[in-house]
Amino acid sequence: FETNELTSWEEAAQRDQLVADVVFNRPLQAAYSYLVPNELREWIGPARRVKVSFGRGNQTTVGFCVGVRPWEPTNRKLKPIVELLDREPLLDDKMMELTRWISEHYLCGWGQVLESVIPAGVKKKSGTRMVTLYTVPDRVRQNRDSIPLPLKQARVLDILCQQAEPMAVEDICEKAECGTSPIHSLRDKKLIDPVRHRAEQFDLEPLEPTQQELDLTLNEEQQAAFDKIITAIRTQQHSTMLLHGVTGSGKTEIYIQTIREVVSYGKQAIVLVPEISLTPQTIRRFRRRFDNVAVLHSHLTDAERHWHWQQITRGEVQVVVGARSAIFAPCPQLGLIVIDEEHENTFKQETTPRYHAREVARHRAELEKIPLVLGTATPTFESWLKVHQKEYDLVSMPKRVAKLPLPPVVIVDVRNDPQITKGAAIGRALESAMRLTLNDGGQIILFLNLRGFSPTMWCKRCGKGIQCPDCDITLTWHKDKQIALCHSCDYQIPPPTSCPNCDHPGLRFIGIGTQKLEQEVRTKFSNQKCLRMDSDSMSKRGSHDETLEIFRAGKASILLGTQMIAKGLDFPNVTLVGVIDADTMLHQPDLRATERTFQLISQVAGRTGRSSRGGRVFVQTASPGEPAIVKAAEHDYIGFARNELRHRHSLQAPPFSKMARIIFRGEAEQDVQAYALEFTKKLKETIEKESLDVLLLGPAPAPIAKLKRHFRFHLQVRAPQLELIHQLWRSTESRFPKTSTVEFIIDVEPANM
Ligand code: ADP
Ligand code: ZN
Repeated sequence: FETNELTSWEEAAQRDQLVADVVFNRPLQAAYSYLVPNELREWIGPARRVKVSFGRGNQTTVGFCVGVRPWEPTNRKLKPIVELLDREPLLDDKMMELTRWISEHYLCGWGQVLESVIPAGVKKKSGTRMVTLYTVPDRVRQNRDSIPLPLKQARVLDILCQQAEPMAVEDICEKAECGTSPIHSLRDKKLIDPVRHRAEQFDLEPLEPTQQELDLTLNEEQQAAFDKIITAIRTQQHSTMLLHGVTGSGKTEIYIQTIREVVSYGKQAIVLVPEISLTPQTIRRFRRRFDNVAVLHSHLTDAERHWHWQQITRGEVQVVVGARSAIFAPCPQLGLIVIDEEHENTFKQETTPRYHAREVARHRAELEKIPLVLGTATPTFESWLKVHQKEYDLVSMPKRVAKLPLPPVVIVDVRNDPQITKGAAIGRALESAMRLTLNDGGQIILFLNLRGFSPTMWCKRCGKGIQCPDCDITLTWHKDKQIALCHSCDYQIPPPTSCPNCDHPGLRFIGIGTQKLEQEVRTKFSNQKCLRMDSDSMSKRGSHDETLEIFRAGKASILLGTQMIAKGLDFPNVTLVGVIDADTMLHQPDLRATERTFQLISQVAGRTGRSSRGGRVFVQTASPGEPAIVKAAEHDYIGFARNELRHRHSLQAPPFSKMARIIFRGEAEQDVQAYALEFTKKLKETIEKESLDVLLLGPAPAPIAKLKRHFRFHLQVRAPQLELIHQLWRSTESRFPKTSTVEFIIDVEPANM
């Protein structure tokens, strides 16, 4: 018996068979080949999921087919595909190309990217969604006039009475301009009835024409910016435009009007915003200007997401508004991508794939040959440098609309303030400004980037802070819930009455969080209503919107909170903004600490002076000479950027070089350190062998050296071009030391460095 002959029989039989390349949800780079059984030939193709046996034993795993090619003699020993899960592709060719690019750029598996890009609901094919609609029973409808109700409930009931059909909660909120609580109150009083419905019967309904708002007439600056973007859209080429416009310069209006042009060609647009729940006003503006807007937010159920995905795929959605993952919306004919507040950190994903939505957007816009608009008052230095390198076109709007000036900013040196030295949050100058403002009938926003009551509990005798046992972080006292909480892992204990270290009973609480600030405001301004917005007070869905609505209506005069209140809010009656402590951002061990401080002060300052009533900003700091603060007070982004970039250039730090961060974590500190050293050695060998221009810094304990019971070390990798870091990784990958006790991840172009 000749084995060769048998093999050639096999070959003959397999000759016109197909081979599929399959990737998995793992860090692996390579694709694996499988034989396509004949009955699947006509259905197989890229962007479909397959079940195959993978690894040891006969276990099957789901993978993504990324390509199909004819069988070749070298593919002799392939296993067949066990099952084909999708007959239609889940993504189109451009999106496949985009996901492949992400895996190469961010050094993760293509399968990992596909897994995260394709929503779970699409994979589960959960096509139906049950939604609750509301309707008014006849007995209520007939007696409507004799039912006394609070204002909002009355509005909701009236709107429902005018409708013959049941209405969805979102639509009611939209029309009545309210949150969900009046609807729930009416339901509890049995004045309206819930009806359950399958969602498909209710497509995204356009709002009534009366609700629609007309485009504003653009001013000269806006018109010039508009014209530039429109020209780019019409050339059908890729370009990136940095729309550098101060807060209130009318950027959003430009996004809307340029998108209108795109929509008029039958194309779609994607608008990325930092966080959906923080931008209700922006969302509302888009909804009032376009018929079919899909808002993709993190609260969507799998089924809802699937439903949106299908609508978008069919081209029925004109504008997709969402947080970073909306960059993957499967618009069939994308015409424009807009990123609002391009400098925000939330565009970077902090789990694998660790992509930055701006970079993904750039690549997608290139593939689609369409423009990308990046809007911000405070561009990242990465973007600003690209303007200088002529990679981005700059579109400037240095003035606010309607000739409103930017608000004057007062820097208050708190080092000698008698109130602050006694432990208060609000110094003398800010307090008297608050009193003046309130006397004038103005409203106030106070910004403090720290939630809880007191950030540190500290023992008077041994001098130790009370730490989370699992993290290298001190616990924050939350007075309202009577707990000491770790802001990293949620570990909580009743606030200790004595020091866990030395048993001394005299614990001191130092530092000020939003809760303590709220208490101080209530004491000092007892006749005023004050609202607090931070992640503790805003845990319920819709509570942002409700709080902001109360403030807008003038039913509270002071709004205080964390960065939640720094963005996008447009309240004409806010005539004073106070930054309680500008130094918290400044002293973080991060290359971008000054940049962030500048951005934050500019953003918060932008919340005032938005009407002819004017506005002022008070910034409390112990570093009044710090350029980030001085320049922000002067509204001088360009001057600040010039100085900072000179400094970064002298250090050859990003954006003048590229960076990646490798993080090692494990439960035993020594193991982690030993592994990190071993790993670094391998990288060094490659650098020497291939003479790569790459610099390794570390390994060293990470800034938070212990997190959720895991010790962390990190290694910074720096090079003039990212390609060098890619090459280093690829060349060393097969020789990474193996261990089961230490994990590593690579973060390319990390948000924190
Ligand atoms: P930005 O996004 O730059 O902060 P917005 O687009 O939110 O600015 O505009 C700030 C305010 O000015 C909004 O209330 C908006 O309605 C108004 N506005 C924008 N453009 C115009 C215009 N051309 N005429 C009148 N008002 C405008
Ligand atoms: Zn912790």
